[in-house]
Amino acid sequence: MSEFSYINFIRRSPVSNKATILGPGDDAGVVKISSGTYVLLAADTLVEGVHFYSDTPLDLVGRKALAVNLSDLAAMGGAENISALVCVSFPQNISGEGPDLLYQGLSDLARLFDVAIIGGDTTSGSQELVISVSVSGTIDPKYLVKRSGAQMGDHIWVTGYLGNSLASEKHLRFLPRLPEAAALTREFKLSAMIDISDGLLNDLQHILRESGGLSATLSREAIPLSPSMVSGDLEKSLEQACCDGEDFELLFTLSPSESARLEASSLAKNPQMPLTRIGEIHPGHSYEPRLCWLENAQVIKFENYGYEHRFGHQNANKSLKRT
Ligand SMILES: [Mg+2]
Repeated sequence: MSEFSYINFIRRSPVSNKATILGPGDDAGVVKISSGTYVLLAADTLVEGVHFYSDTPLDLVGRKALAVNLSDLAAMGGAENISALVCVSFPQNISGEGPDLLYQGLSDLARLFDVAIIGGDTTSGSQELVISVSVSGTIDPKYLVKRSGAQMGDHIWVTGYLGNSLASEKHLRFLPRLPEAAALTREFKLSAMIDISDGLLNDLQHILRESGGLSATLSREAIPLSPSMVSGDLEKSLEQACCDGEDFELLFTLSPSESARLEASSLAKNPQMPLTRIGEIHPGHSYEPRLCWLENAQVIKFENYGYEHRFGHQNANKSLKRT
């Protein structure tokens, strides 16, 4: 069974209460505390051999375990008053300083983003290191952005650069886009947003599906290719930018008028933080949302549309690729 089909299975039997605003299927769950305050809740688990190599420095593992969660909060529009719970299962053969290193990486990033680490659980005995972090944070409902709000004609934008995250170690060292999400949602009305974890195309498909089965065209020239890709092979670089995943950039949509305002704003002119308009949302043509390059309206035929965890069938280690 695939990761997404299991999520869909869970979504068919929702368990909610009167405080639930948004259940499984977005970057975070949303709970209503009062009419002016929602709480975002997200969780992520990293497993040795699946999400990181056994020789990855443990401070970077701890850092990433928190960073991926903060990226999910950013994808909802950002959050304040963020707290984290940390659950770790250490393997029997962990080195003496291993646990300290793990916490050091995690706590350094927590301080940088004013995140409180308020508890968790520690156990041992498994063969692999497993770390699971869950986070909560508050958001004013007017800034909340779901995956499901994209409309026909909306423009598609992305933060930063895409591709080569694994080889360049960006996936271990990235800064979650919390400040950028806050700046964007306070100044502009975003219609949908997601963070790029599974690859640009895969994550755009999530927006298209959740928004009622829309399609999209992307401009090849506009895709912001990571400067760390030096192969000189444009097709290969584009494929990496579209499919690699683990970029942890924000992919968002907004109306043409809001898009024009963003284009003219100082936010879009910050060389430290590129914001790029990469395409446009169109009506859906079929059950499966279509993605086309803008110039020739050809359906993209890449081998994979991103990364999906599968369990029950294949060796998890196969899913890690060194490039
Ligand atoms: Mg996400």
